[in-house]
Amino acid sequence: MTSLPVIAIDGPAASGKGTLARRLAAGYGFAHLDTGSLYRAVGLSVLRAGGDPADEGQALSAAQALSPGDSVLTDPALRGDNVAHAASLVAAMVEVRAALLKFQRDFATRPPGGRGAVLDGRDIGTGICPNAEAKLFVTASVEVRAERRVKELQAAGLHAIVEIVLEDMKARDERDSRRAVAPLRPAVDAFVLDTSALDADQAFSAALTFIRSRIGPA
Ligand code: C5P
Repeated sequence: MTSLPVIAIDGPAASGKGTLARRLAAGYGFAHLDTGSLYRAVGLSVLRAGGDPADEGQALSAAQALSPGDSVLTDPALRGDNVAHAASLVAAMVEVRAALLKFQRDFATRPPGGRGAVLDGRDIGTGICPNAEAKLFVTASVEVRAERRVKELQAAGLHAIVEIVLEDMKARDERDSRRAVAPLRPAVDAFVLDTSALDADQAFSAALTFIRSRIGPA
């Protein structure tokens, strides 16, 4: 059996990788997995049970219990900043990452729809799908990313202070990049796309040019 094409998209928070992943998946008719939602779901499950996401035993049990149809994976509470923080704690645990590896590899090899898969996260090109046909690393300056995040929060009717969002984002970047297990970094064969000075359409167009060069037109 020939394997289906996989597009791996990595990058820091609010770099625009999620939007790009959704648009590329829609364009190619591929299934999309936002792998950050898995770590968020683990964090949220522990918080909801009244537990502590920094406790490895509790985080591991929640990771082992997660299955593809789980309603927690689409829970709107996943987007909260407290859950993002819990996610970055559980994501630094080796055993939690190992428990979520199979979920992600199964999705990449047998994606819903059977045409191909787009996975976005932090370690897709480096760890989860090292043989992906196309790898993108989407980034932007931390100031630009914090501004985008503030606009998203405000659009959702939430109060946001840019200085606080910026400090949170720097702390999360630091945890994601410095951790011993699966640190955030571009794969050697990734196309690095800096979206600091690009709007969503310009970023999509640059990404599409690269993806076409790897897997052909949609
Ligand atoms: O992308 P998102 O902000 O939803 O990810 C939440 C957290 O999950 C990140 O800060 C990161 O610590 C973790 N994560 C990860 N590996 C992935 C996706 C997300 O470690 N593939």
